[in-house]
Amino acid sequence: MVKHIAILGSTGSIGKNALRVIDALNSSLVARGTRYEIVALSAHSSVKQLAEQARRYKPKFVAITNADYVEPLRSAVGDLDAEILAGPDSLIEIVQLESVDIVLTAIVGAAGLGAVLAAAKKGKQLAIANKEPLVIAGELLTKTVKENGGTILPVDSEHSAIFQAMRAGSRQEISKIILTSSGGPLRKMSVEDIQNVTLEEALAHPVWDMGPKITVDSATMMNKALEVIEAHWLFDMPVEMIEVLIHPESIVHSLVEFVDGSVIAQLGMPDMCLPIQYALTYPERVAGIAEHLRLDEMGKLTFEKPNLETFRAMGLGFEVARTGGTAAAVFNAANEAAVEEFLAGKIKFVSIVELIERCLNKHNVKTNPALEELLEADAWARREVHKNISLPNGSQVRKC
Ligand code: NAD
Ligand code: MG
Repeated sequence: MVKHIAILGSTGSIGKNALRVIDALNSSLVARGTRYEIVALSAHSSVKQLAEQARRYKPKFVAITNADYVEPLRSAVGDLDAEILAGPDSLIEIVQLESVDIVLTAIVGAAGLGAVLAAAKKGKQLAIANKEPLVIAGELLTKTVKENGGTILPVDSEHSAIFQAMRAGSRQEISKIILTSSGGPLRKMSVEDIQNVTLEEALAHPVWDMGPKITVDSATMMNKALEVIEAHWLFDMPVEMIEVLIHPESIVHSLVEFVDGSVIAQLGMPDMCLPIQYALTYPERVAGIAEHLRLDEMGKLTFEKPNLETFRAMGLGFEVARTGGTAAAVFNAANEAAVEEFLAGKIKFVSIVELIERCLNKHNVKTNPALEELLEADAWARREVHKNISLPNGSQVRKC
């Protein structure tokens, strides 16, 4: 059997790991009945990497979402037998192709929303790493998937762990799900300590090697807040049934508690290749490249409650999940805009959460929003953040 895959965001951290997983799945080392064929690859502006990937994997479609880079891409891969697409809509074109069975979304941020929804409308199998579209439009997306006979398979490690652990019982038998978090690079810091966190400190994740945006999200704990909302929609789980525990060793990727008190966890080395592979081979498990766990070498596995005082984003995530409507679109967009400003050196680390909070306070939540209203809320929050930062060092945040 051949499974045809489109990888959106193939040059990022998840995208590159996905290609490694596919190489291994196709190799004789782990030979099995299924071969994975790459139909399309995309990147935003990393022409060189995308061109190298195109040469190696020979996809039928190569897309560059930032159209400014299409000419360099043409020069780099013009001799290949691949159609070159440009602009954000190129992803929508790709996911609608009859020849695509699986869409692996490894784009960062809300930019992936249009393509994910288009894939859902076509009833495709979605392997989702790109959590932001689920946060913004979780209700709409999960409904569209159901209506069109598609599937969503989580790639995010915590959600993959929950998905795997849920197989131990029925939905009615679950009493709660527990998302684990490494706690990020600033885990031990107090409210005072985080006031002067530098970009370098925020980017120094102790366990996971990820793209810059999600690494900053881990430092603010916004990543876990987004993951609470992601879990809420993915598993149709009331917010009251979702808990977060800090687990610095990142070996227990998440847990499901059943009504009889049994807790089923998924454990593994902190390596995204494992959840990526599971999403591609589900419902089967096959040998792969992820390093196997040696519990005897692990020493202690520890768990603690999150520090909601230092990491206010965490509490906001639960609040936003309870509020629903357009709140999560504002929450996510304000974060994306603020992280962009932080990565550009324009605001302080602590300003990220302040800006998000101010936008949430100012926003009039709309319930049961249509897609246009979600997109409006997203655009509004971005404008609010960008116009309300102070320059040059961003030491202050004016009111949203
Ligand atoms: P990354 O920054 O390393 O890569 C992002 C990819 O998206 C690149 O290929 C880039 O070219 C593309 N891209 C960037 N901006 C784009 C735009 N505007 N339009 C289209 N494409 C664009 O990011 P990452 O760390 O691989 O994360 C990707 C997604 O997966 C994020 O949503 C993140 O939260 C999620 N995720 C990542 C990890 C991880 O280990 N990296 C783990 C769990 C979940
Ligand atoms: Mg995660």
